[in-house]
Amino acid sequence: MSQATIPGLLPQKDGSFAIYVEVPEGACPKAADLKALANMMDELGCRVHLTTAQKFLILDLNDETGKRAMELISGTGLNAKKAMDLSQPRVCVGRPYCRLALQETFPFAEELMDKTAREPIARKIKVAVAGCPASCSWANMVDVGFVGVKSGFQVLIGGHGGARPAIGEKMGMITNSKEAVKLVRRIAKFFRENVKKKSRLEKVIKKIGVEEFKKEVGL
Ligand code: SF4
Repeated sequence: MSQATIPGLLPQKDGSFAIYVEVPEGACPKAADLKALANMMDELGCRVHLTTAQKFLILDLNDETGKRAMELISGTGLNAKKAMDLSQPRVCVGRPYCRLALQETFPFAEELMDKTAREPIARKIKVAVAGCPASCSWANMVDVGFVGVKSGFQVLIGGHGGARPAIGEKMGMITNSKEAVKLVRRIAKFFRENVKKKSRLEKVIKKIGVEEFKKEVGL
């Protein structure tokens, strides 16, 4: 199998390869896994970039070192992203750490990660969790955002960055992570069944209408 077709090994513009490694809850991995990553950098001469989506991006790999990096990562508690799936939600620190927080975010994000991260999707869907409307994790600018308020979490849908960024629209409220898991699964299913080409969720919703979308996903 050529390196370009090894799942998770991504060709870069300069001819090198890169690997995305998930960092659940944006929290520093176990010391042993960090040491393994450091050893990998020493052995392979690769660079580790911290992405805005709270992942590690292993850069400067070639044909041989890319394959070796995959082997080394699979021997740790870390997970290289290999397929088009929901992956980890982006999350802020929330309660009890942030003085502005209205809700706890880590257990919420952990449940989303455990129950929805491997949910297959047709195109990119980004999910984020914030402990208050300041939305430091950009929960107001992702496809599915959960923003902590006094009575629970506001659900914001259809946001994204890019050349023509969009703020997510407030489409409802939930009170706990179990409801969030169910909602994210329903949205992923809806998106799989309705997405065409490279559309983001915002475009699909515009096409069918907000009320119809809310009915489809039970909001
Ligand atoms: S979104 Fe709110 S709770 Fe989260 S880090 Fe920012 S200010 Fe704190």
